[in-house]
Amino acid sequence: MIPFSRLSKLVVRTTTNKNASPLAASRSITTLSSSLYHPRYRIFGINHNNNNNSNSNRANSTNSTNSTNSTNSVMRQNSSFATSAIDSDESEKSKSALNFSDGETSFKSKSTPSLILSYSIFTLCTFPPLVQNADRLIALSYRLLGQTLTDTVVKATFFQQFCGGETPDDLRPTIQMLNQSGINGILDYAAENAPDEETETDPPNQPARTFMYQNEEQCDHHVDIFKACVKAVKDVTPNGFAALKITALGDPILLERMSKCINECYKLMKEFDTNNNGIVTVADFELNYHKFFVDAKTRLPGLIKRLDPTNSGQIDYIEWSKMVQPEDVPRLVKSVRESGRLSDAAPTPEDLVALANAKRRLDEVAQVAFDNEVRLLIDAEQTWFQPAIDNFTLELMKKYNDKTKTDVPIIFNTYQCYLRNTPGRISKDIKFSHRNGFHFAAKLVRGAYMTAERARAEDSGVKSPIHDTIQDTHDCYNGTVQYLFDARKNAGNIVVGDEDKIDKNNNDAAAAHACEVMLGSHNQESIEKAIEYIETHCDGDGNRVGAHFAQLLGMRDNLTFALGEGGYNAYKYVPYGLVGEVLPYLIRRAQENSNMTEGMSEELDMIKGEIKRRLIG
Ligand SMILES: Cc1cc2nc3c(=O)[nH]c(=O)nc-3n(C[C@H](O)[C@H](O)[C@H](O)COP(=O)(O)OP(=O)(O)OC[C@H]3O[C@@H](n4cnc5c(N)ncnc54)[C@H](O)[C@@H]3O)c2cc1C
Repeated sequence: MIPFSRLSKLVVRTTTNKNASPLAASRSITTLSSSLYHPRYRIFGINHNNNNNSNSNRANSTNSTNSTNSTNSVMRQNSSFATSAIDSDESEKSKSALNFSDGETSFKSKSTPSLILSYSIFTLCTFPPLVQNADRLIALSYRLLGQTLTDTVVKATFFQQFCGGETPDDLRPTIQMLNQSGINGILDYAAENAPDEETETDPPNQPARTFMYQNEEQCDHHVDIFKACVKAVKDVTPNGFAALKITALGDPILLERMSKCINECYKLMKEFDTNNNGIVTVADFELNYHKFFVDAKTRLPGLIKRLDPTNSGQIDYIEWSKMVQPEDVPRLVKSVRESGRLSDAAPTPEDLVALANAKRRLDEVAQVAFDNEVRLLIDAEQTWFQPAIDNFTLELMKKYNDKTKTDVPIIFNTYQCYLRNTPGRISKDIKFSHRNGFHFAAKLVRGAYMTAERARAEDSGVKSPIHDTIQDTHDCYNGTVQYLFDARKNAGNIVVGDEDKIDKNNNDAAAAHACEVMLGSHNQESIEKAIEYIETHCDGDGNRVGAHFAQLLGMRDNLTFALGEGGYNAYKYVPYGLVGEVLPYLIRRAQENSNMTEGMSEELDMIKGEIKRRLIG
């Protein structure tokens, strides 16, 4: 179990690590406190606001990054039982201090030259001919000036703005600068294939990129890259995350076929729900099993025992829908009465080998992450890959977020709120996590593949999986954030029931079910709504601990820095890689910023204002 010993190791590590910010140290403590100390608050009759103090202390002490402060924050945490009154005042201060329009605070850890660079880059991005032809101009520059000179210019400008460095060691200054404002890094190896038509027309602010499948050896090589990324997180930003794309670890065509197969299984299972009311009775199940399969006599009794362990007369629909894996389908279709779409989607023996290889690669990376206490974000991709990605990720979560092995989730799945089916999927996955005793953790994004999704749906003559309007996507995003905080609060609330009847063991188990949420978004309104919800509906700190906020490096700094300064778990998505390899990523960043949104122009004004303030006064 990672828990006590492991988390106390984390605490020791952060308090003695010179690179660690006070925030980093207290975050470990706070994380520890949410899952371990939390029940104790109740036992001693002290409420959660105690924890807010560590956040406000962080907010009030971020000017200094020395280890004395880290130690102080640890000690304060330990003595927080005695200081709750003062601390809730401080917490109020911290809340009101969160101001996304305050350039002085937001940019205080950025040097003036780096602000001037940001201003120049964003201004350059507003010249359409430059941005629209960026790839051609770079190719021309390679021909006329040579690669070394071109790379040097790119490195001093766009690369400096949007990337952390070429190697993990290069990332240290960027991470140290972020740490000074209480921000940690999400490391992402950003080598990618050149943007194609599809990604060029996709919406802005996406770290999303395309890995072109070459062969299985290339996928093995990607395993080494992701493992190195995990180790870099541990070395450079131990309270951060590593990001991973599953399409880099297996042939995307295989993932697409597996997704089709999973969808067909799901449709078959839905057919068992004769009344379409979401409930499958044992009688329905028996009837339909006979209808579809020839092996009812031998298989049905065992299956029912497993799917209705309490003899309730109802089938556990979630268990049933998650039970069948693509690997089981060839065996399953052998017993179907009539072959149909499921038989067509069944994997071939070669598919099964490739599938096992992709799973092995993913497991290798996750094992390294688990062993190094590094958290892993699995990116969401196109809907034609997503069922396979979800399937792989839930298996990983079951193994590495197992609450008997760790008090904090190691694996986070990503959910895209531009999809209509996201709330339903999340609620099923949360229930599945509760039943299987693992921590649920989600990164919530709006989604980066809208144009491609809509085009594909239109080509196939099916309804688009994307919401009809951007407002629907916003509502889905904000509603899902609240749903997840409620889920966290409710799991926690089992803990804060009747003090007289507290059973510590049960409380620990219940607290460990609480989910964690990362908001991957540049949308200020969503962030403000989330914070307001946490502070007003969710017992404040208990949920601050489980809430994470992330933006891309070099973009919407006013949000990330204010969040970090305000004591929230704030992160920058920090891409790294050789200049030549990350060019497509840089070109996309430039193209996105050419399309000045309201938020971006506000940020540009803030940068300008802060430069003026520093230079002219
Ligand atoms: C840290 C981080 C991690 C990310 N990880 C992923 C990932 O794993 N997978 C992924 O797909 N994306 C990812 N993204 C990108 C993300 O999905 C969005 O594309 C991007 O962040 C812009 O959304 P926003 O929340 O910042 O808000 P906004 O800029 O307010 O909203 C723009 C988004 O709204 C949606 N939208 C726009 N127009 C419409 C419309 N007409 N109808 C319906 N919806 C519409 C689109 O999703 C669009 O991207 C990530 C972003 C960040 C910052």
